[in-house]
Amino acid sequence: SNIGLQKDRVVTEEEWLQKWKMGNTGFHNEQGHPLLQKYLHVLLNGRSGLRIFFPLCGKAVEMKWLADMGHSVVGVEVSEQALKEFFAEHSLPYCEEPVPEISGAKRFQSTSGNISLYCCSIYDLSSSIVGKFDGFWDRGALVAVNPRDRQRYVSLMITLMEKNSSYLLVTVSYDPNKHKGPPFYVPESEIKSLFG
Ligand code: SAH
Repeated sequence: SNIGLQKDRVVTEEEWLQKWKMGNTGFHNEQGHPLLQKYLHVLLNGRSGLRIFFPLCGKAVEMKWLADMGHSVVGVEVSEQALKEFFAEHSLPYCEEPVPEISGAKRFQSTSGNISLYCCSIYDLSSSIVGKFDGFWDRGALVAVNPRDRQRYVSLMITLMEKNSSYLLVTVSYDPNKHKGPPFYVPESEIKSLFG
């Protein structure tokens, strides 16, 4: 699969950093995503105090929502600017430290301790560094990954899943011949084969 014109498209980390720098962050939603509200019960499944992972987190406000509900949130994002804006926009004090296992990576942790954001590439992470998760919020993440890296990304997500974890995935449906992405079009059949 990897639909037509999109399959070879590559957006570099440098281009993502540039988008943040120029303020081309139309994907960011100040209001939070209505689908997380709608399917929160599926994510939580009656459980409390979960560990929840936000791949390619940007400055998603949903991280604050879930932390305020008593869950512990871990995110990963290449843009340091995005992570600093997240803490600033929610007036959350944080500390910053290197990640010994990943050269050049930084970890930003809320002083309250329940939000921990890694500034590095998602591909630098592993369960030995971040542990496993009970819940995942994948919005603007699988659809932002370069098409050629999709299987690698999903295989990594699977290694981060705790037993009985829930994974909420948001995709976008459109004619991939009309837009180059991101967000890329990932058809449901491909999602099924990627996650197995
Ligand atoms: N999930 C967020 C952001 C979506 S945009 C939201 O819902 O708002 C995709 C984000 O992924 C961008 O902020 C970009 O900087 C980041 N990104 C792109 N490639 C990445 C990679 N390999 N590792 C970590 N973050 C990455």
